[in-house]
Amino acid sequence: MLSEVSSNVASCLKCGACRLDWKTSEPICPSGMQFGFDSHYAIGRVSLAGAALADRAVLTADAMRTVLSCTSCGACDVQCNPTVGVEPLRVIEALKQDGFQAGALPPELRDFLKSVSVYGNPYRLPQEERGRWAGGMGIEKYAHHDYLYYVGDVGSYDERGIRLARNVARLLQAAGVSFGILAEDEHCDGNEVEKVGEWELFEYLAGQNIEQFRSLGVTRIVTLCPHAFNAMKVTYRRFGAQFEVLHYTQLLTQLLRDGKLVPKKAMPSQLTYHDPCFLGRHNGEFDSPREVLDAIPGVKRVEMERSGEHGMCCGGGGGNFFTGLVGLGPRSPGRSRVREAQATGARILAVACPNCNNMLEDASRSEALSEQIAIRDVAGLLLEAMALDTEGARIDAGTDRPFHHQRR
Ligand code: SF4
Ligand code: SF4
Repeated sequence: MLSEVSSNVASCLKCGACRLDWKTSEPICPSGMQFGFDSHYAIGRVSLAGAALADRAVLTADAMRTVLSCTSCGACDVQCNPTVGVEPLRVIEALKQDGFQAGALPPELRDFLKSVSVYGNPYRLPQEERGRWAGGMGIEKYAHHDYLYYVGDVGSYDERGIRLARNVARLLQAAGVSFGILAEDEHCDGNEVEKVGEWELFEYLAGQNIEQFRSLGVTRIVTLCPHAFNAMKVTYRRFGAQFEVLHYTQLLTQLLRDGKLVPKKAMPSQLTYHDPCFLGRHNGEFDSPREVLDAIPGVKRVEMERSGEHGMCCGGGGGNFFTGLVGLGPRSPGRSRVREAQATGARILAVACPNCNNMLEDASRSEALSEQIAIRDVAGLLLEAMALDTEGARIDAGTDRPFHHQRR
């Protein structure tokens, strides 16, 4: 609620430091970069929050369309001087909640939320199909295994996400990890629902998952997606959840260190890595994905200018992966990111998130860069270096793909 962040709002200096990255002087706010108006940067959203608090502005669906193109990437929080006492993203999240409470819903948001509340997923696909990604892999349903492998909506239903879900599962099997899945009993983690401001639906989804995990005796969870990782590790704690939650790159790092996975096949490639916001900036995990990539013989990893805490969002966070409010225009964060990756000389842009994978793959097609730089997931690269049978999960971007494109 905005009333809870009024001192944050009042402290904003209107300095505009949240527009450009102080380290690189490059644009850092995805929506501001795409649309170019102050209203689409944190400075504009915090100003709107101030006007709404003072009853000088009404939160309409059009105004919320601007607010909701914020991807919750957190870059403005890094930019804003901490001594000022503003947490811009906290203000923006309160603004999203108040907009939702006021019924100011752009149609794209209405569709997304309706899909999740009616069908249980943004794809409007049947619950019984949630486990189809694991077909033919011999993966057990969770029953007191060491880990629950939580796949999420994109890994369960999106054809490209399914490929990534299978890559991770194949590595866990190869390392002899005891894990199970929920398949048709898995439910949406709710991270994106919370990030668009629908707290009550999020509360319901989180409560449902926590109750289910507890009743099954789950203590450790490994997630495919940084968004589910963030929800289960951070936000579920508000409801008393205390699960140990790992992102798959963190578990792979442990398995490599323990010698349970030994990549032997050389991959003489220059590659760069894109930090997903909900793994990196929001949860401080910058090293594990890089450690996995560095374990692959022959790989030369180079960094993009905007990386780590100063990384640039792919444009898919804060529900934008599903609502498409940021879009894929020439100034979009995804296309900017692919150009930046290609400028490093890398032939591979490695990702650790199914949403980033799709956003950046689509962006590279729009930029006609698919032949120059391949978007590859960290797990798929490690699988290739281990010369494992990927069971149809070949992921040579730009060549013959086993699955056709499916709209997000
Ligand atoms: S949110 Fe922070 S960085 Fe942005 S205008 Fe306000 S004080 Fe300046
Ligand atoms: S969270 Fe990211 S997209 Fe949203 S205002 Fe801040 S920098 Fe811009």
